[in-house]
Amino acid sequence: MPDIGKILIANRGEIALRIHRAAHEMGIKTVAVHSTADADAMHVRLADEAVCIGPPSATDSYLNIPAIISAAEISNADAIHPGYGFLSENANFAEIVEAHNLIWIGPKPEHIVTMGDKVEAKRTAGALGLPLVPGSDGAIEDVAEAKRLARDIGYPVIIKAASGGGGRGMKVCESEDQLETLMQQAGSEAKAAFGDATVYLEKYLGNPRHIEFQVFGDGNGNGIHLGERDCSLQRRHQKVLEEAPSPVITPEERARMGGIVAKAMADMGYRGAGTIEFLWENGEFYFIEMNTRLQVEHPITEQITGLDLVREQIRVAEGKGLTLRQEDVQLRGHSIEVRINAEDPRTFAPSPGRVGHFHQPGGMNVRVDSGLYSGYSIPPYYDSMVAKLIVTGTTRAGALRRLRRALEEFVIEGVKTTIPLHQAIIQDPDFIDGNYTIKWLEEWLARQDAA
Ligand code: ADP
Repeated sequence: MPDIGKILIANRGEIALRIHRAAHEMGIKTVAVHSTADADAMHVRLADEAVCIGPPSATDSYLNIPAIISAAEISNADAIHPGYGFLSENANFAEIVEAHNLIWIGPKPEHIVTMGDKVEAKRTAGALGLPLVPGSDGAIEDVAEAKRLARDIGYPVIIKAASGGGGRGMKVCESEDQLETLMQQAGSEAKAAFGDATVYLEKYLGNPRHIEFQVFGDGNGNGIHLGERDCSLQRRHQKVLEEAPSPVITPEERARMGGIVAKAMADMGYRGAGTIEFLWENGEFYFIEMNTRLQVEHPITEQITGLDLVREQIRVAEGKGLTLRQEDVQLRGHSIEVRINAEDPRTFAPSPGRVGHFHQPGGMNVRVDSGLYSGYSIPPYYDSMVAKLIVTGTTRAGALRRLRRALEEFVIEGVKTTIPLHQAIIQDPDFIDGNYTIKWLEEWLARQDAA
């Protein structure tokens, strides 16, 4: 692969800026694409060139494949980086990009396909030696067989859609008399939402943590892991705050599971950045899915490894391989990210609109990834996340103190944000002790509402 001279960034907001920054530091020019609603966005202002690709609706702009490919051709870009969300896990898009002789800064399309189908992903993960949640061996249609299996693994069980995503298409089943109805419901909901009625069944874990490993492959049989992130703090299956390393994973467990996932990537011939997601309960890991892209929460891994993951993605896409071998990867300190959304911190109702005074925190080991500025109008059409605050300390306690201080400094006037929510969460004794699971935040929110 030739060196990349110009990257078209097929995304918006903070991740478009993030990619622009890595590219510019590598001497690579950038092309922003934007909807008419984003003409004044920071990623458009900073990029070397900008092309308007359509009206506000994402379907007509950031998901508009012909418009994006035309923008790449007009601007003479050599490569496309999809960021996260939008087209990042669309194998068809990846193939179209490559068919136009553009470099796709992402995994091989066949791996996007495999991991995008959860039944296939589970089968592949199992074959690669990853521990699975006990459950059906692939898709399940026959109710009698599902009943036998559920009796074997024990209730509750969860029925999941093979093509589900974003926490949708799942039904928890407490007992055998509900199983048939719930299977039918899950199937028809999955058909309506994803166009595919395939469901599978697995044990429902009562109170796990969400722990994910960052992995990287060079596409030629080398794979590394960069440790784990704990993303258990979730509301409606959406991550709210992430930390690395996880407060509950020992160095031995990290090395053992990290070794397994890195070898899996090497054996697959995986190319680029990926995340292997596990549920973790009573010291055991259970694979749930793999994301074949950069994640929102990647900066906490960057902060404790010192590695620029976007630079690494670009290098791998150029065929230059990985900068580090596993033995060179060293984890230092503790990093926490909070997602700041333009939302009411109690009701979570979106709060788009014009930003008045804007001041972001600074100082040692404080990083803000955001496209906000004073006078910017947050459009109502897209995701409400407007900033990520990432703080790093030598220890978890130090990182928490820094987070408290940085949140105090953060000023975003004119719209409501989730800053006060984060300020409250990080004062909770359970959170301070690292004592939380995927259920913790919703229970905590219910207690706040009751108070
Ligand atoms: P999606 O692709 O929709 O995000 P995942 O398979 O990643 O679906 O699951 C999303 C979330 O659903 C998990 O983070 C966890 O909170 C919950 N979940 C999924 N599978 C199970 C399970 N077997 N037991 C308990 N909770 C589960």
